[in-house]
Amino acid sequence: MFDIEFLDIPPLVSVSGKVNLPGSKSISNRVLLLAALCKGTTVVHDLLESDDTQVMLTALEQLGCTVERNTDNNTVAIEGLAGRPVRDKVHLFLGNAGTAMRPLTAALALLGGEFELSGVVRMHERPIGDLVDSLRQLGCPIDYLGNEGFPPLKLHARTTNQLLLNQPIRVRGDVSSQFLTALLMALPLVASRDIHIEVVGDLISTPYIEITLNLLARFGIHVQRDGWQRLTIPAGSKYTSPGSIHVEGDASSASYFIAAGALFDWSTDHKYFEINGLGTNSIQGDIRFVEAARLMGAHIECMPNALQVSPCKEKQAGQKPLTAIDLDCNHIPDAAMTLAVMALYAEGTTVLRNIASWRVKETDRLSAMACELRKLGAVVEEGPDYLKITPPSSPAEWTTAPICTYDDHRMAMCFSLAAFNPASLPIRILDPKCVGKTFPDYFETLFSLAQAKSASIPVICIDGPTASGKGTLSSAVAHHLGYHYLDSGALYRLAAFAASAQGIDLNDSAGVAKIARHLPVKFKDGKVWLNGQDVSLAIRTEESGMAASKVSAYPEVRAALLMLQRSFRALPGLVADGRDMGTVIFPDAELKIYLTASSVHRAQRRHKQLISKGNSATLQYIQQGLEARDERDMLRSSAPLKPAENAKLLDNSDVSIEKSVLKVLDWWQGTRPF
Ligand code: C5P
Repeated sequence: MFDIEFLDIPPLVSVSGKVNLPGSKSISNRVLLLAALCKGTTVVHDLLESDDTQVMLTALEQLGCTVERNTDNNTVAIEGLAGRPVRDKVHLFLGNAGTAMRPLTAALALLGGEFELSGVVRMHERPIGDLVDSLRQLGCPIDYLGNEGFPPLKLHARTTNQLLLNQPIRVRGDVSSQFLTALLMALPLVASRDIHIEVVGDLISTPYIEITLNLLARFGIHVQRDGWQRLTIPAGSKYTSPGSIHVEGDASSASYFIAAGALFDWSTDHKYFEINGLGTNSIQGDIRFVEAARLMGAHIECMPNALQVSPCKEKQAGQKPLTAIDLDCNHIPDAAMTLAVMALYAEGTTVLRNIASWRVKETDRLSAMACELRKLGAVVEEGPDYLKITPPSSPAEWTTAPICTYDDHRMAMCFSLAAFNPASLPIRILDPKCVGKTFPDYFETLFSLAQAKSASIPVICIDGPTASGKGTLSSAVAHHLGYHYLDSGALYRLAAFAASAQGIDLNDSAGVAKIARHLPVKFKDGKVWLNGQDVSLAIRTEESGMAASKVSAYPEVRAALLMLQRSFRALPGLVADGRDMGTVIFPDAELKIYLTASSVHRAQRRHKQLISKGNSATLQYIQQGLEARDERDMLRSSAPLKPAENAKLLDNSDVSIEKSVLKVLDWWQGTRPF
């Protein structure tokens, strides 16, 4: 996961392959609460793993539920609370998860007891007053601990068991449909008689209520409804666990991939892009995003549990891939954000209507979307409940700038789609880790499916003499930028190590090259694996360094490792450390650094390292060794040690690693268009 300040996405060209969607957030959090309200154990398959579901799971555990995860088959078993007293006097911190805050407030108010519910600052700006009013009507004592109408809340123990169920419970439906969902999931707990709910105002986002009703039915509660104004929970309703339940793929998350499959010119390449885990059997309202995307020109084939996005054959080269639409998006509020970014690729002006609910989501999505779309060159009119988007009229009109994400996962995911822009501009997403709310590995997934021109995938090369700290600097820079890291020295060390292990004499250049050509190497979890064996430490010895220095002087060995090294140039970018990175392997790298330090400083660093590993080599011995290696590396004919022609020199003899990293990042920023 990209736990970094910003992520630069290089210009993307296409997507291909298959994506397995993460579980639906809406279904996951509802199922968790319903399972908790049942008697017995419910095994939940393919639950979404994200910040919002984690918040719900933690809350349920705090309330006394037993939660057991089985990572082998991706299930979570929840033992419900029914029949057992809820652990009360607890403080539940619910982050920014509306799907936890609203339903838990209602369920706990009816279960009874003393609770405090709070969240992040934004959660405290998201309305809950209408739900609290409904619960107070029933006789539940609830106080606001901050601003009237907003979390944090204090739920008090009821003094009487009597709830006022004899009259219809009125709830506002035109601010957030989660208020109604919350009541629908809580009231079956007290359904000793028919309970009527009356929706005040026009109900928005009805598809989310459909999910609630659908899942309630799976848990034994059959709500009767008369239009969307009046719903009844029949007397005697009782939660019953379905035993096991499967969470389908998230339809809102699917929208980014559907869009990606529809945005670019497929005319040259007749393949299709497959999205697994969601299809015609879906109970999620956002599946109707498919219809909206089709209106914009996407070709989508729906199967029961998969979608295929295929080439838009009738478009001519140079034409915009999509067509503008004017659409009421009330039924797909979350996925409609994706349409807003698709509008950048459409011929004409797109109008998205009836989306006032965007204002009370993770951020005020109407103004956030308008502001960020303008940064890319679109002309945007922001109405009270609509957006009108006119895209850049030609590639030359596209612009780029850092995209703010407002701690809103959907802003980050939507705007990644701007990387398919016809101007081939990179896109910078600020605070990319906010996708953790619903799709923690969104960017990794996108990068595994997307293609970019190799030349547009950025590379930073860092070279320097042995023990100059280039490995530490390179991996720190890679970490800051969310880029891959290539330790090319390790490949030479590995080639020598693997050859020796197979009894090949290191003087046999052809023999070593043969091994180097098919090195079964993997860099994973900060370790180096050769043929499935962890060799991270074995290749770090001084002897191994000398052996690498020897075999790396053979032109055949260098040639054998060329393609392997180039294959590390992958989305979103690469930091490569080693000898000829900036000259032979990636001569077009945008930034080349030659890192050096005096041999005394380098010897001191290496000495410290060795001492900490229990090695007793003297400082003088190490310095002599380093100088000998420098000389050998500088004088050899094949890839001698010397700065690349346009490399920036960084002498870090007296500079801390943090300062060196900042210096490199500063140079890097100088090459960026942001
Ligand atoms: O950087 P490290 O000390 O791991 O590299 C081991 C040796 O491999 C270096 O001394 C150098 O001779 C060789 N090497 C090389 N080309 C690279 C990386 C390392 O020749 N790209």
